Amino acid sequence: MSSTTKRISLRASINAHCKDCLYDPKEKGTWRKQVERCTITQCHLHPVRPKPIK
Ligand code: SF4
Repeated sequence: MSSTTKRISLRASINAHCKDCLYDPKEKGTWRKQVERCTITQCHLHPVRPKPIK
């Protein structure tokens, strides 16, 4: 990795991926709420998908 490349955490990467995958601003709920309701259990990220911050 070059010194100019910004490191991104695994958590931030998963969050960004799930948000890109599922979030629809026209649908009800925050992106975290929508991702929490994801029903694609075959996805490898499903067990670690982001959920609303309590
Ligand atoms: S867990 Fe759901 S929202 Fe996240 S990448 Fe997989 S299918 Fe998309």
